[in-house]
Amino acid sequence: GTYYGYRTHRDYKWFKDMTDSDNSIGTKPRVVILGTGWGAVPFLKHIDSDKYEVVCVSPRNYFLMTPLLPSVSVGTVETRTVIESIRSLVGPKVKYVEAQCVNVNPKEKIITCNSDGTDVVSRGDDVKAIYVPSKREGGASSRIIKDSARTRPQFDMKYDVLIVAIGSENNTFNIPGVEEHAHFLKEILDARRIRSAISDAFESAMTPSQTPEERKRLLHFVVVGGGPTGVEFAAELSDLVREDLHHFYPRLVANDVKITLIEALDHVLSMMDKEISDFTEKHFHRENIEVLMNTFVKAIKQHEVVIQAKGSNEQQSIPCSVVVWATGIKPRRLTNRIREIIGLNTQSNRMGILTDQHLRAKGVHDGSLFAIGDCATIEQPKLVDRIQLLFEEVDTQHRGALDLQQFRTLVEKKTHEFPQLEIFSARIEKEFTEADKDNSGFLTLTTLRSALEKADTKLRALPATAQVASQEGRYLADLLNALPDLNVENYQKHDIKPFRYKHMGSLAYVGGDSAVVDFTGSRPILDIFNLKPLSGRGAAYLWKSFYFTEMFTGRTKTLLAFDWVRTQLYGRDISR
Ligand code: FAD
Ligand code: NAD
Repeated sequence: GTYYGYRTHRDYKWFKDMTDSDNSIGTKPRVVILGTGWGAVPFLKHIDSDKYEVVCVSPRNYFLMTPLLPSVSVGTVETRTVIESIRSLVGPKVKYVEAQCVNVNPKEKIITCNSDGTDVVSRGDDVKAIYVPSKREGGASSRIIKDSARTRPQFDMKYDVLIVAIGSENNTFNIPGVEEHAHFLKEILDARRIRSAISDAFESAMTPSQTPEERKRLLHFVVVGGGPTGVEFAAELSDLVREDLHHFYPRLVANDVKITLIEALDHVLSMMDKEISDFTEKHFHRENIEVLMNTFVKAIKQHEVVIQAKGSNEQQSIPCSVVVWATGIKPRRLTNRIREIIGLNTQSNRMGILTDQHLRAKGVHDGSLFAIGDCATIEQPKLVDRIQLLFEEVDTQHRGALDLQQFRTLVEKKTHEFPQLEIFSARIEKEFTEADKDNSGFLTLTTLRSALEKADTKLRALPATAQVASQEGRYLADLLNALPDLNVENYQKHDIKPFRYKHMGSLAYVGGDSAVVDFTGSRPILDIFNLKPLSGRGAAYLWKSFYFTEMFTGRTKTLLAFDWVRTQLYGRDISR
């Protein structure tokens, strides 16, 4: 365009001023990535900035090590240990703009950003304020005040490639009172608020005029959701009470403190191996964490949680102070906006932006929009929908039937396009014999269908985890680095492989120096060992060493080591 590819002269000048030493402005394709989380950072660390002009837009100018957030919420680990400035992580070659993207125009390839916002508080996209904990929160209410010092205008920015990596939001399922009275645990500010609310609850309980009932209410902590977030928070809270608070509030801890975890299903950590759920439930029992299974939270009020047991019509109120809401995630408003702009006919998956296996948003035909991490979901083609084509491709002699060798060719040739075929690869002969019901030595279209249907049942959306997001971010950097230019035809010409997720196992800390590790579905190296789920102290060492090595920089590694040693030697800082 007129201004070296920039939409307006102001836009051009702004970039030029920001990066005076960079003469390449306007000469390289511009890749814009939204977000500074688990998807964005590995991308930014590996993308070739000599080839692309790389711009990162996010309202959060730091990366957050989410797995350690439950530790921060009770002071086992300090705030600064789990965050790292995005500028120091990615260096000066990447342009970072602190702003929130509010709209995307995929036709004109322009994003609209609003930089009036500050840090993201996990209470919806549109909070343009900074959270300041009130002096006496009692754990249940929140106060959000406007940061008046900030005046930055809305702006548009052109892109050649856009990568959406904006993560997700907490899901309240519109249950009344959650937004107003419960704490989420998703951003650093949430963890700080929880830490302050716990301290406040104990100090309030120590007030001389407090009635015994009110003391019990103040010291009843409720966690809603028995997924990994809820389990890890309950575990850290129980450690805090047992290891530190009992020194300072011995009578309160002995008589009044209670931690309850409420889960709607019949197991906690239901996405993990059953052995792990059972271990965690027993372990929590030993740690004095009450687990209410098959119990649904219907409402949260200022000083109580309303619950209903499965199969019962009756609701019950339990008095409590701090409530932590960890019932899962939902797409952000911008994610849904992008889906609508592209068209809900193509973007039909409510979980996030639907992409093909190269992580390109479906419905954006020039391949200029990618989505990764929690805000994206990869389309998984079903084998049965393509059965005719697949059949004809291997039935080269047009016999209308496949022999074992042809079935083997089908599995081997098509596994990278249809990963669900992997379940056959180690046992092709057995699967062939099972599918060949009339023992003819051949599979017809009908008998092949039943085998392919079996493989299709193994299709699962990838979980919303840091592990998935970071592998996708890394894959996308490699993909863009490998493409000679952004022409979509290059994918075939240069044999760009689709994204394949390698699951390395799931870990969760369950308190009392114990963790659980589930290797189910892990590949490719780990599954040959057929590793059994691990639990207990050994797993806790694995958990610690894993997250220690995952810390991105030497600075945060050092801080983490110090925090762990400090907690071990001197206990946690229990002040607000
Ligand atoms: P995020 O990491 O959430 O990053 C999203 C980024 O987008 C943020 O920088 C945000 O500021 C930015 N953003 C938001 N809106 C906009 C906008 N409009 N414009 C521009 N930028 C925007 N996973 C694991 O694998 N292992 C674990 O042990 C684990 N533990 C967890 C513990 C907790 C307490 C939580 C909450 C999550 C945990 N997860 C874990 C899940 C993991 O954190 C997420 O799956 C991961 O963060 C997803 O990465 P992402 O890049 O999609 O999103
Ligand atoms: P989740 O979706 O994994 O679990 C939420 C739980 O809340 C479910 O078990 C659900 O049955 C329960 N629930 C929902 N509504 C309820 C209600 N009204 N009353 C009672 N229970 C209710 O959510 P999460 O734990 O927040 O995790 C979010 C994502 O982050 C997941 O993808 C998870 O894998 C990932 N994560 C991973 C780790 C880890 O690997 N250690 C840690 C934290 C989060």
